[in-house]
Amino acid sequence: MQFCASDSTPDTDETADWGYVFVQEPGQACFGCLFPHALEEETSGRAPCAKVAAVKDILKALSGIALYAVDTVLMPRRREWNYRQISLSATMPDVARTIERRHDCKLCTPAEGS
Ligand SMILES: [Zn+2]
Repeated sequence: MQFCASDSTPDTDETADWGYVFVQEPGQACFGCLFPHALEEETSGRAPCAKVAAVKDILKALSGIALYAVDTVLMPRRREWNYRQISLSATMPDVARTIERRHDCKLCTPAEGS
C-alpha cells in the first residue's frame, strides 16, 4: 500500500479529470492554509493513495500552469493567483484565486508559547 505525501503540487484526483497548482511563497499561505482538513486527516491517520491510471492530459495541462507559475516566481511575469484549479470535463469550475494565510493554520502558524 502506498501513502500520499501532503505537499505534492501540482496535484490531481483519482478520476484524472481535475487538478490544481498551488504556489507557496515565503510568509504566504501554505498547504495547511489551503486545505486545513488535510492536516486533521494527517494527524488522525494516513490515507492510502487512490489507484490512478496513467492519464497524461490533465498532468500536461497542470504542468503548463506550473511552468507559468515558476516563471512568475523567477521573472517579472504577472500572476494574480496562488491557487489554480482546472477541470477538463468542466464538471467542476475552473478557479484562479489567491488563498490567504490562515492565522489559525496548524502548519505555518507557531503555537503560542513556542
Ligand atoms: Zn498555513
